[in-house]
Amino acid sequence: MSRTLNADEAAACDSIRRVCADVLAPAAAEVDETSSFPQAQLAALAELGVWGLNLPDAWGGPGLSAMALAAGVEAVAGSCASTASALTAHYLATDAILIGGDDDLRRRFLPEAATGRKLGAFALTEPRAGSNPADMRCRAVREGHSYHLSGTKHFISNGGIADFIVVFAVTDPTAAHKGISAFVVEKGMGFTASPPEKTMGLKGGHVFELNFDTQVPEANRIGAEGSGFRTAMKVLDNGRVEVSAMCLGIAQAALDAATHWAGERQVGGMPLAEYQGIQWMIADMATQLRAARLLTQDAAAKRASGVRFSLEAAMAKLFASETAGKVADLALQIHGGYGYTRGLPLERHARDLRIMRIYEGSSEIQRTIIARHLLQTH
Ligand SMILES: Cc1cc2nc3c(=O)[nH]c(=O)nc-3n(C[C@H](O)[C@H](O)[C@H](O)COP(=O)(O)OP(=O)(O)OC[C@H]3O[C@@H](n4cnc5c(N)ncnc54)[C@H](O)[C@@H]3O)c2cc1C
Repeated sequence: MSRTLNADEAAACDSIRRVCADVLAPAAAEVDETSSFPQAQLAALAELGVWGLNLPDAWGGPGLSAMALAAGVEAVAGSCASTASALTAHYLATDAILIGGDDDLRRRFLPEAATGRKLGAFALTEPRAGSNPADMRCRAVREGHSYHLSGTKHFISNGGIADFIVVFAVTDPTAAHKGISAFVVEKGMGFTASPPEKTMGLKGGHVFELNFDTQVPEANRIGAEGSGFRTAMKVLDNGRVEVSAMCLGIAQAALDAATHWAGERQVGGMPLAEYQGIQWMIADMATQLRAARLLTQDAAAKRASGVRFSLEAAMAKLFASETAGKVADLALQIHGGYGYTRGLPLERHARDLRIMRIYEGSSEIQRTIIARHLLQTH
């Protein structure tokens, strides 16, 4: 992504890449094997200000562009995808407060979140409301100057660990998605978390079911009553660019491993790289990945320009997630049986990538968003 970065941004990304190489990459296999939350890795990134990479300097961030953010996320994901998933879930939470909240709420949460003192989570999905979050059943009923929040959120990254959780709930059941509001629920306000789900990949990026029967002060509401759904959709536009960047990082790591392996592995008296069948695989992988990177840069640039970029974000996420899955599969294929073992990272890359076609809107939902833009249907 360096083409699109100014000198300060390029320097910041170089620093992030160094920490990724020194701290994250060496521990990634163990994070996966032991399903451990990457606390030390996140702490190392906090020291560089990476927890606030999505925030302007007024709220504690470094004030870098959306292109630099994408490049940073790509570097983190290429070294440890679990760490990237926990980090980008934190970005969803702080984006919601930045986009939907007033200055008082921003002041209370964003500077501490930017420096790594407070971890966030973003709780939209419910057991019966995933692809269509407007089906949600969580309720928030006003009681004087607070709300009684009740219900269950499902698959919430960082949920049981976070210091604050952005929770979406229905405040007006007669108003469909316009009756949804967003709240910041703080640790200690009283909710329970399940043990982390056992997942196929991103094993260090813990996801939880959360049960709320919780009193939340009115001052913790994000924006006006009924504005929650709109805030969530804007946050997800941002999140989809970050998911695209994660896909690039993991797929690039797989491609780099495959080109190295093809040069080293001798079959029939010559390196695999000498076989045209392997060369064509690598050519296709690199070409597809470049196209995914250009779509991601395009979405990030539109985000940076301040206009709505739902279409570009959906296209980038759809293409990057599907492409990265194919690239990782071919990279594993080039490694033969060794690629299928846990001694090499190829099978981990393939498992980590599988969720990218599902979360923050599945590939089917991205196609629906793209088609609606083109056909102007609802
Ligand atoms: C590891 C992990 C981390 C997550 N982190 C978070 C988080 O931090 N916060 C959060 O709020 N959520 C999170 N999620 C939830 C995630 O966003 C949802 O799983 C996702 O949106 C899909 O919802 P669902 O699982 O309920 O599937 P469903 O909505 O039940 O969909 C099932 C299938 O039907 C397809 N489908 C649905 N609607 C249509 C349609 N209209 N047309 C065609 N096909 C359709 C879907 O594409 C999918 O293939 C996470 C999930 C996982 C597994």
